Amino acid sequence: MTLDIASIIWVIGIVAWAAIRRPYRSKAKRTKVIADKKSTTENLALVFCTIGLVIIPLAHLLTPVLRFANYEFSPLLAYLGTISMIGFLIFFYFSHKHLARNWSVTLEIREDHKLVQHGVYKYIRHPMYTSFWLWGISQFLLIPNWIAGTTGIASIAWLYFSRIDKEEAMMQAQFNDEYTQYCTKTSRLWPKLF
Ligand code: SAH
Repeated sequence: MTLDIASIIWVIGIVAWAAIRRPYRSKAKRTKVIADKKSTTENLALVFCTIGLVIIPLAHLLTPVLRFANYEFSPLLAYLGTISMIGFLIFFYFSHKHLARNWSVTLEIREDHKLVQHGVYKYIRHPMYTSFWLWGISQFLLIPNWIAGTTGIASIAWLYFSRIDKEEAMMQAQFNDEYTQYCTKTSRLWPKLF
């Protein structure tokens, strides 16, 4: 493992992320929204995610501006980053596949919205956010730079902590007892072991 290979793995992750999301984004455009809970904080968090997860690391790989914040490359960390990136893509792919037409980039309820409880949603309520945390961790492990490596995880933290309670409240209001039952059987990000 070299620094160049680690950078290429990060780029492959970004390309795969865009390719997985693309068809769902166009499907979402065609599915009517009946309730919209997005806010300015939410929109800002999404903009910050694009900057922190894509633009800053890309700028670092293509220009020398952030080189002053580099630290020594570790092959071991880069291997762990690769595992984390694979985990990100697996969770990201299956959460899209199982949410299907119920997915939205923000907090929205769609026409004929169903509470998805199968596939990866049988075990956890927020596999897409699990995938985002893994994405942020992989960026940190693959890019040895105190700025370009950490802006991803910082933006994920902002998005996750500003959104999670609002999203669960929205789902609770929409699905009532069905959601209460679902919450007793699942945890948020990682399956209950017992
Ligand atoms: N928090 C989920 C989904 C993220 S996408 C995850 O991390 O996997 C956000 C949208 O998904 C929300 O606007 C909500 O409408 C929808 N959503 C979240 N959980 C859902 C579920 N179990 N079934 C159906 N739609 C869900």
